[in-house]
Amino acid sequence: MNIVRPIKSVDDLANAGLVSDRDRQALEEVAARYAIALTPTVTKLIDRTDAADPIARQFVPDIAELIATPEERADPIGDHAHSPVEGIVHRYPDRVLLKAVHVCPVYCRFCFRREMVGPQGLGTLEPAAMKAAFDYISSHPEIWEVILTGGDPLVLSSRRLDEITRELAAIDHVKLVRFHTRVPVVDPPKIDAALIAALKASGKTTYIALHANHPRELTSEARAACARLVDAGLVMISQSVLLKGVNDDAAVLADLMKAFVETRIKPYYLHHPDLAPGTSHFRLAIEEGQKIVSSLRGRISGLCQPAYILDIPGGYGKAVIGESAIRKSADGCFSVSDYRGGEHSYPPSE
Ligand SMILES: *Cc1c(COP(=O)(O)O)cnc(C)c1O
Ligand code: SF4
Repeated sequence: MNIVRPIKSVDDLANAGLVSDRDRQALEEVAARYAIALTPTVTKLIDRTDAADPIARQFVPDIAELIATPEERADPIGDHAHSPVEGIVHRYPDRVLLKAVHVCPVYCRFCFRREMVGPQGLGTLEPAAMKAAFDYISSHPEIWEVILTGGDPLVLSSRRLDEITRELAAIDHVKLVRFHTRVPVVDPPKIDAALIAALKASGKTTYIALHANHPRELTSEARAACARLVDAGLVMISQSVLLKGVNDDAAVLADLMKAFVETRIKPYYLHHPDLAPGTSHFRLAIEEGQKIVSSLRGRISGLCQPAYILDIPGGYGKAVIGESAIRKSADGCFSVSDYRGGEHSYPPSE
């Protein structure tokens, strides 16, 4: 009775009572375009009594996904423009993305790579492509950091991850290995001793960037999984997306950031949602985002402050887009605002 199975289709969603019969046909259309998956952990987290549940909103498909707006694009952050070999995105000189796998344990409805991930997506790199990717990294001594993303690299087996980190360990100029993942939250038992050992590249520093968007995702199981990672010597940072109807509220965002810090995860990035197709129902105005982010400054500890980030469409990279507290004034001095909104000149006038 209490067995919860992974959800991978509209039928599964209907059987679990998560979508209404009325929407099934339209949702099949959504499913034909964008992959669906919920882990049992996520399914159990959904509050079925709340029609606007922020967990359901992130993972249960919505007919609004069929609406594409003119500014949306299949490759919103311009991965293709900077891909020298399959699986590598080299936009900044000192670091590359290594996209070994385009599969995730859950499919976020707002995903910026939704056209590339999923069963119909780009799949897993073939051994020859993997070798070419490692050759590319080896032959570029300016690459200091390798960021495994995708897809979610932690869907790979410990054996496959171990092979990858061994290859990276053998490249002298690579000093950092970073994994971007949702697994500690959506499938905490997967974070076991074998996986943790596999994530550590010998002689390198390993960072884990955890993607979570709502404080309820940081259950005691999820926090325990993160504690196993941190206790093993991995450094954790957070990554969230500012999403309408999920966390576009200063109190919710504050609780999320506090939950990260309590879990020894340093808040890193809060992304403005990308222009991925069929995601306009998640996007809010930049000014609204700036207001919410600014209000965190006085509300919670400095440790809890993420940087508000926009990935510039077309492949131009990331920019910090929070309101600036300081402006140059006409007399060549500065005007700086405090966290309550008070204005002060710098240097002080007397
Ligand atoms: C986001 C991104 C990175 C990582 O950027 P950081 O600011 O170091 O977190 C690296 N390469 C590409 C192509 C990216 O899109
Ligand atoms: S886990 Fe990341 S790559 Fe996978 S669906 Fe969610 S946002 Fe996209």
